[in-house]
Amino acid sequence: LRSPWQPQWQPGFAQLGPAFGRELPPRPLPEPYWVGTSDSAAALLGLPGGWQQSPALLQAFTGNALLPGSTPMASVYSGHQFGVWAGQLGDGRALLLGETAGQELQLKGSGLTPYSRMGDGRAVLRSSIREFLCSEAMHALGVPTTRALCVTGSPQLVQREQLETAAVVMRLAPSFVRFGHFEHFAARRQGAELRQLADYVITRYYPECQDAAEPGSRQHYAAFLQAVSERTARLLAHWQAVGFCHGVMNTDNMSILGLTLDYGPFQFMDAFDPGHICNHSDARGRYAFDRQPSVAWWNLHCLAEALMPLIDDAQAAEEALESYEAVFGDAFLALMRAKLGLRTPRDGDAALVQQLLVLLAAGRVDWTIFWRRLSHAAGRGDFAEVRDLFIDGAGFDAWLLPYQELLTQDGRALAADLMLKINPKFVLRNHLAEQAIAEAKLGRFGELQLLQTLLARPFDEHPGFEAHAGFPPDWASHITISCSS
Ligand code: AMP
Ligand code: MG
Ligand code: MG
Repeated sequence: LRSPWQPQWQPGFAQLGPAFGRELPPRPLPEPYWVGTSDSAAALLGLPGGWQQSPALLQAFTGNALLPGSTPMASVYSGHQFGVWAGQLGDGRALLLGETAGQELQLKGSGLTPYSRMGDGRAVLRSSIREFLCSEAMHALGVPTTRALCVTGSPQLVQREQLETAAVVMRLAPSFVRFGHFEHFAARRQGAELRQLADYVITRYYPECQDAAEPGSRQHYAAFLQAVSERTARLLAHWQAVGFCHGVMNTDNMSILGLTLDYGPFQFMDAFDPGHICNHSDARGRYAFDRQPSVAWWNLHCLAEALMPLIDDAQAAEEALESYEAVFGDAFLALMRAKLGLRTPRDGDAALVQQLLVLLAAGRVDWTIFWRRLSHAAGRGDFAEVRDLFIDGAGFDAWLLPYQELLTQDGRALAADLMLKINPKFVLRNHLAEQAIAEAKLGRFGELQLLQTLLARPFDEHPGFEAHAGFPPDWASHITISCSS
């Protein structure tokens, strides 16, 4: 089979050397079939039209054939899992195929690697569909994220709690380097590799740090830490604003580029519960929704610790992380202001937001529906449908009064415009993903494609698909999503 796509590979992570991983081919899967494809991700790579029909690409994207000129590798990293040092981890079921058009291509679920530990190197259809849909949905929401080009499936059986079937996701990101990569070389006292990795990431992805201080100087690495910290702060502000619960914020799942990385037991908030735990394996709620910003901060301290041989000054490292709280706070407030349709920053904004969050939590109000209804209500000047969402109607009225005043000052029509572009109508709720998965298991992909269409333009009305924008059904609260994937 001749591939209709000959990627122009560029040097990148794979050229760092043998200390960073192991070259090895993907392991084939029998009878692969297409599950989902993303044209918008394909556009990033410049894939030829009709690529979804290519049998050669179906084989290549399942890991059954190599793309021309590709030398796949699994990278080694370590990390803290649930707050505990876990030692060496690594790409246990992922392979970097190469870099092209500024994107690393990574197969996930492509078989055993030297870093598979107790795992089987595979990913199941269920979790692969979740990763595929959510990566693309997050991108459409404007949240920094890794991307997903496609999912392919195979009848090959994979044992989890039940027998399931295998799938492979092709992920894209400018880099898949994690905090855990740095922790790995620091823990091994491999100072040369630690520096090499830092220099690589800074040169490629943080060029602004090169202007901040002499390359290779301690200040240079401190500036890098600060830049990572600030990108991470902005990522967390996005998660909190859109109601995204990641579920497994281990340091090996923290992107050095501040991207949402590793879609496992994630969940978009239904009824607003600040303490919501979306990961069934997280009994103690370490990664509960409202703890995410402080967990990211804890993870940044792990990164700082790993960079200490380069920064060589505890005070400087501490200072590099100081801006996190303010950057997060400012970014979150800016997003909340936009969600409220308020263009003019005012002193009382933070308090207004805080009061609203308390009300939403007390009434367990649906996060996405609240914001969407508020957006429409702001335009009409009639808030009855928003008020209906609250048990404590009087409490809502008390909040609404000053808010309406600000809206009027800023202009209601303009506000509604802004709000409808930041408050999505459609998010990938667990039960929607479950429905697409249930169909896909039967070999039907209509629901998956429909979800893809809605989520690719989450701010559009898509008339006729109100059910996909509605309250979750009762059974949604019984869905358990764990680390098993
Ligand atoms: P995660 O909890 O998804 O972040 O995965 C933690 C570590 O386990 C990473 O090093 C993964 O590569 C590895 N891993 C997860 N699932 C598997 C699997 N099925 N086979 C091999 N390694 C896995
Ligand atoms: Mg992971
Ligand atoms: Mg994972």
